[in-house]
Amino acid sequence: MTALPSHLEKEISEEALALCARLREKGKRGWVVGGCVRDLLLGKGVSDWDIATDALPEEVMKIFPRVIPTGVQHGTVTVLMRDKKGESHPLEVTTLRGETTYSDGRRPDAVHFVEDIVADLARRDFTVNAIALDPTVGMLIDPFAGQSDLEARILRAVGNPVERFSEDGLRVLRAARFAATLEMEIEADTLRAIPQTLETYKKVSAERIRDEWMKAMKAKSPSRAFEVMRETGILGITCPELLEGVGMEQNKWHGYDVWRHGMACLDACRGDAALRIAALLHDVGKPRTREFSTKTNDYTFYDHDRVGAEIAEPILSRLRFSNDERARIVHLVRHHLFHYTEDWSDAAVRRWLKKVGLERVEDLYALNEADARGKGRDFDEDLQTLERMKLRIEQIKSEGAALTVRSLKVNGGDLMKELGMKPGRAIGETLEALLEMVIVDPSVNERDELLRRAQSLLPSDAVGSGASLKS
Ligand code: ATP
Ligand code: MG
Repeated sequence: MTALPSHLEKEISEEALALCARLREKGKRGWVVGGCVRDLLLGKGVSDWDIATDALPEEVMKIFPRVIPTGVQHGTVTVLMRDKKGESHPLEVTTLRGETTYSDGRRPDAVHFVEDIVADLARRDFTVNAIALDPTVGMLIDPFAGQSDLEARILRAVGNPVERFSEDGLRVLRAARFAATLEMEIEADTLRAIPQTLETYKKVSAERIRDEWMKAMKAKSPSRAFEVMRETGILGITCPELLEGVGMEQNKWHGYDVWRHGMACLDACRGDAALRIAALLHDVGKPRTREFSTKTNDYTFYDHDRVGAEIAEPILSRLRFSNDERARIVHLVRHHLFHYTEDWSDAAVRRWLKKVGLERVEDLYALNEADARGKGRDFDEDLQTLERMKLRIEQIKSEGAALTVRSLKVNGGDLMKELGMKPGRAIGETLEALLEMVIVDPSVNERDELLRRAQSLLPSDAVGSGASLKS
């Protein structure tokens, strides 16, 4: 046991401390365990405090007035503790798991307590996640030298890595994720164990994999996680599409191969996790579209944005991304490519805005900037172009011209009432055609003018088109 450095004591949550103190009053023990101890020692802010206790869930429910039985079958309950202001804080309290727990039913002595917590820690995945803290006395229990691994930034499995990874396939993915989020090196034996235990990894559910990918995206450089996944074979199982770009040379615009560019773009991408997934996948269509052009004497990737969107869609479905996330990411892959120049007409700018959607413009700026920064060559000019484009877009946006059918000054009802059109496809097509006219010339967006133009679009003999002229 070692003492918690005194400057960290004040960082311990008051509720976690009060909870453990109360358990102790009742002859039980509580320790802060897992990720929160790790993050506390790293000087990071901790939001979720997990507690391990030798009390059974029923006992915890008796000791505390407000307890939610969140996972009693796994020994977990959620205790609601009030702070001084009377606000509620949930804490997960889990009964110790391990060989010696409840072995003999006698009132456990101090040694027994420690044996119990050590057995619990031994079941955890990495040494840095296997440190317990008794907040009532400020003592750390660190049987696997997690603190020294934390200092040296080494991610090491608790015990035999091949055995530990064979017990639970999620652990290899957590290793990749922590390598990125904690900026750690995976210890050699631990790393070597990953390719040997992929059969267990194959059983991990798509939802868990997605969650780990999303958590990895919170790292400063998520590429560390994906490089580990590539090297160890994890990615070959989950997303072989991304491996097609490994070692694939690009063209004079790029310093990196397709894979490395994806990694550099991912790291450079500033935004939420889903946006970073879009950065990861943005060029997934390149390998299948690469062709050598004798004209430019270089490789081309025509249509890789469209093909990429087609490849990204099933990847994201497979990984059970929500419909909204999937739609957003596929849309970004589809539209990531644009080459703005000053000679875009106002109509061209509006047409682009209509195509990508106003709500996706900021995402595309961020993706475009990351794409440029990830080229592995000078990108100043690209960023200047992007800044000019942003100014231009802001200006066009401020003019408030219609960019969607909904902001036209006529709607389907008007077309039916005023022009006698019948419900059907022709209504939507007419509105789309009107929108295109408004994009070219926003002054067209006046009710009478739109109706006049709509009428001129209708066939003189409207029978069979679903539309008909007023007699
Ligand atoms: P984060 O909360 O940032 O995802 P964490 O380490 O706190 O990281 P949790 O999933 O909250 O991860 O788990 C809490 C603790 O439970 C871990 O620190 C670890 O000790 C243990 N643990 C979690 N998942 C596993 C696992 N698959 N195998 C073994 N131990 C695990
Ligand atoms: Mg946690």
